[in-house]
Amino acid sequence: MRQVYMDYSATTPVKEEVLQEMIPYFTEKFGNASSIYSTGRQAKHEMDAARKRITDRLHCAPEELYFTSGGSEADNWAIKGIAKARRSKGNHIITSKIEHHAVLHVCETLEKEGFDVTYLDVDAKGFVDPKAVEAAITDQTILITVMYINNEIGTIEPIVEIGEIARKHQIVFHTDAVQALGNLPIDLSQLPVDLMSFSAHKVYGPKGVGALYVRKGIRLPNLIEGGAQERRRRAGTENVAGIVGFAKAVDLAYDHFDEHVERLIAMRERLIEGLLDSIPDTRVSGDRKQRHPGNVHVCFKYIEGESILLSLDMMGIAGSSGSACTSGSLDPSHVLMAIGLGHDIAHGSLRLTIGDFTTEDDIDYVLEQLPPIIDRLRRMSPLYEQAKGAE
Ligand SMILES: *Cc1c(COP(=O)(O)O)cnc(C)c1O
Repeated sequence: MRQVYMDYSATTPVKEEVLQEMIPYFTEKFGNASSIYSTGRQAKHEMDAARKRITDRLHCAPEELYFTSGGSEADNWAIKGIAKARRSKGNHIITSKIEHHAVLHVCETLEKEGFDVTYLDVDAKGFVDPKAVEAAITDQTILITVMYINNEIGTIEPIVEIGEIARKHQIVFHTDAVQALGNLPIDLSQLPVDLMSFSAHKVYGPKGVGALYVRKGIRLPNLIEGGAQERRRRAGTENVAGIVGFAKAVDLAYDHFDEHVERLIAMRERLIEGLLDSIPDTRVSGDRKQRHPGNVHVCFKYIEGESILLSLDMMGIAGSSGSACTSGSLDPSHVLMAIGLGHDIAHGSLRLTIGDFTTEDDIDYVLEQLPPIIDRLRRMSPLYEQAKGAE
């Protein structure tokens, strides 16, 4: 049967060129980057080169980028670290209701430790209002953390405006840019951002590696004590293969950036328009323009996301309802609640995220398979019968 993967915001396959660059670091180039003999020095050299390759793309200094085990670790380090470093200056943190759980759950933990957190509302398209950020600032505010692109509904947040407000008030600004890397140009010499989180496996790199950008001059406590790796900030033998793969993935993303984005947007629009045309009572979540190039998020009234996913899976199509981390729970996602969708609509949500291996044929296949699935599920739905009966 045909297999169509449309869950690129959950994870991406490792590109062949990325894998090829990684392989020698598991075998002949296995050296520990802390060792002084030649295989060790070579590993260190390749790792430094990888860091430079990434920071050149992001327009920051190599000393400002720390490798981590992924996006979640980078978020945890940034938020807990700033909270601890600036505790004597205040105890207030501002974030939004639609952050990834790697941000929200950290904020909840900090609340138990005496921090005060403002979770800003978003509008119906998922935008955080910079004016609301400014209005929430108190003399206790030490950190603002708002994501760059939302992983569920694809909304691109106004982080330049938010960062400028943070600067004006001398508050540290962190943004989770996991979904932005490779999908937006990122120029840290221009962006008013102090800390930024990244993950390799969302950009065709390996799982288990990511990075935290920490602007020069920002004080952040060490994450892991031990050896001298990552300039003593995050001890532990480096994941050299992963780091080299991450660098290759970032290189590929930005070498073919315009092409990648244009291609995705064209397919995304065809998929969205096709679904709106063929399935009644469908609504698109998020903004149609300020949107992740590969994100399609729709809600079908009267039915359940879980049953849509199971039916799609039977046809070889992989998608998600809510975010991967929340599927399995019956509550509609915090993001859909925050954009004001009622339980009835939010339950019938479907996220299809496309990427570099998606083809026009894949889009055709989904447009052919999905309408009859929705039709069949609706005919089985008591809610649908009630609604239609009332008309
Ligand atoms: C995937 C994701 C993360 C987590 O990254 P990991 O590398 O899987 O830990 C964090 N934030 C966002 C927005 C994500 O999409």
